[in-house]
Amino acid sequence: MGKKNTRFETEVVHHGYDSSIYHGSLAPPIFQTSTFSFQTAEQGENRFAGEEEGYIYSRLGNPTVKMLEDRIAALENGEAGLAFGSGMAAVSAVLIALTKSNGHILCSQGIYGCTFGLLQLLKNKYEVDHSFCSMQTEADIRDAIRPETTCIYIETPINPTMALIDIEMVVSIAKEHGIKVVVDNTFCSPYLQQPLDIGCDIIIHSATKYIGGHGDVIAGLIVGKKEMIQEISMTTLKDIGGVMSPFDAWLLIRGLKTLHVRMDRHCDNAEYVIEQLKGHEAIESVYYPGDQNNPSYSIMKKQMKRGGGLISFTIKGGKKEAQKLLNELSLIKIAVSLGDAETLIQHPATMTHAVVPKENREQMGITDSLIRLSVGLEAKEDIWNDLKQALDKIV
Ligand SMILES: *Cc1c(COP(=O)(O)O)cnc(C)c1O
Repeated sequence: MGKKNTRFETEVVHHGYDSSIYHGSLAPPIFQTSTFSFQTAEQGENRFAGEEEGYIYSRLGNPTVKMLEDRIAALENGEAGLAFGSGMAAVSAVLIALTKSNGHILCSQGIYGCTFGLLQLLKNKYEVDHSFCSMQTEADIRDAIRPETTCIYIETPINPTMALIDIEMVVSIAKEHGIKVVVDNTFCSPYLQQPLDIGCDIIIHSATKYIGGHGDVIAGLIVGKKEMIQEISMTTLKDIGGVMSPFDAWLLIRGLKTLHVRMDRHCDNAEYVIEQLKGHEAIESVYYPGDQNNPSYSIMKKQMKRGGGLISFTIKGGKKEAQKLLNELSLIKIAVSLGDAETLIQHPATMTHAVVPKENREQMGITDSLIRLSVGLEAKEDIWNDLKQALDKIV
């Protein structure tokens, strides 16, 4: 893939697609096929031997999926991309590829619930250990690294408290120890944050969220150096088999075309809602990295373009008031997931983080009064009006 000569906003629309070779079709074709026939037995032999480029079988590669892989690689400024049937298929392929038994994975706190579940499985069945670290200072990270640490795995912003991790700081320490750094970039999308530029080795997306953007597909993507992506492609993707369907790849190519426009509107709306929330008497505190008063604001300025579309806040009261607030809403939908056109609200203590034991939850700042909002693309005044009328009822 050559060096890009156009900007991000143009690449999301065009990268890697030449309509002239597909009858001028403006939308890319969906190669809905399981396998590819060879012209001769020798061609089949050469393809299997890797001596001739070309498709063999859709679990090993598919043209529609490849278009998406090339596009996400360009958007993340990486060498190569790889698509998976879900974000978790991507996370598991990467973690299995980067670890070995008796090794250790160092993770940021508050990582996605199913990633947490996968780490426990790796520990219980395959002796791959892990530990969590706040990663707020260099000393935190240095103290947590072990001789057998093979991988540092981070999510920033941290869900659902929206604190940030300084990626540059993590990468510089990891490099001293020859440890690979993986960033789950789901909450930012490549429009807001490009961790490969800061020196991390692999980025992961649950493409289900901002990349798809319309709440209609479950999918995962990774981007990194060609050699590493090739290795994952030929092992944990090919042999475990969590591949993406051509139709899902097509939906994601379509979703990506508006990523930059959607992300700016998500950010505009989130900034507005945060300012309104601050003035409401039912609110205790608000958490948004794009807020100048947020402790992570300086890290946001350093590594993100804007604060993103996710906000969280605590209300005065506990579980009862939190549930009442959700039940009083009408425009805003009660749902987990994020990054959709619709504004979604959830109660982490009883939903996304219900599996985390209460003590750990509270240590992570996930109290019964914490609410997370994925701010959608509706008119900002309408989002706020719905939230306000519900907040008024719990005062
Ligand atoms: C949703 C999500 C995942 C899992 O992705 P799926 O597409 O649901 O499998 C992983 N990481 C983060 C941060 C997520 O939000």
